Amino acid sequence: MKHILILHTGGTISMSTDQSTGVVKPSSEHPLNEYSYMFDKEVRLTEEDILQLPSPHMTPEHMLIVKKRIDAAIRSKEIDGVVITHGTDTLEETAYFLDLTVESVIPIVLTGAMRPTNEIGSDGVRNLQSAVWTAMSDNAAEKGVLVVMNEEIHAARYVTKTHTTNVATFRTPTFGPIGIVSKKEVMFFQKLIKTEYFPIEQVTKTVPLLTAYAGMSGAFLEALAQTGIDGVVIEALGAGNLPPATLNGIQLLLDQNIPIVLTSRAFNGIAQDIYDYEGGGKQLKNAGVIFAPGLSGPKARLKLLIILEKSSNHDYISEVFEIT
Ligand code: ASP
Repeated sequence: MKHILILHTGGTISMSTDQSTGVVKPSSEHPLNEYSYMFDKEVRLTEEDILQLPSPHMTPEHMLIVKKRIDAAIRSKEIDGVVITHGTDTLEETAYFLDLTVESVIPIVLTGAMRPTNEIGSDGVRNLQSAVWTAMSDNAAEKGVLVVMNEEIHAARYVTKTHTTNVATFRTPTFGPIGIVSKKEVMFFQKLIKTEYFPIEQVTKTVPLLTAYAGMSGAFLEALAQTGIDGVVIEALGAGNLPPATLNGIQLLLDQNIPIVLTSRAFNGIAQDIYDYEGGGKQLKNAGVIFAPGLSGPKARLKLLIILEKSSNHDYISEVFEIT
């Protein structure tokens, strides 16, 4: 019999709607605890309320707490898979943080809910069930951390929340989900070529994230250069270009050896050094800007935060951001 550890961290999946006011609030008791009957006797579940946070309150330090609990579970050799319930707003960030920092020899699956547990058509119980089934699947191991929502299985590296309220919110732009949960069957159709592992014990660095826009000046970057940041991620325009007025700020940061990592603010596709004009990707790369092909801005930010714990060497950072 498989032994699955469920770590509850909060989010809508642990909240209910106040029937008189209609607002959504944390429940005093985790509403999913009473649903363990849905797994018959096929699985042993151990549940822990490790955090109780709306996911906009989640920080990398909280993610580290979850990581360390999973590390301990793996070390114990008593757990066959881990499910983490999480608010959907930052679920993809915790998922990717764990993807990079846990040596995932057993299935690690995140799930959440778009609707509180006491609302009609609530998706929490179903998502939890699908996540547990996925964590029980031998095929789910060594595929990196997974996100299971709305009967789809996504790789943590590329999944993102795409809708504010719809239950079909989690999507993987460009690449698609890697599997599905259909009825009770867990099926995989593709997998990442390579997974990555950066063992860290702490998160101490400061890495802000900016989004580029038409007419952007270098003022934010110049101001950031004064604040002692360790790195910065910019969601650039299109294939990876910036307005020319930002270039002074870019140069100022590069002169201080502050790594600048570039993603695209476009929803599909990857950032690349294609254009050779002022602010174009080719010139940015030649100047020392590092491209993060395939990653969203928030995920590139987490990756930079994590790898800076090991090294701030430009060549090392460029190498780990090459597509894997
Ligand atoms: N705002 C909620 C949260 O992320 C949304 C959710 O869980 O779906 O905690």
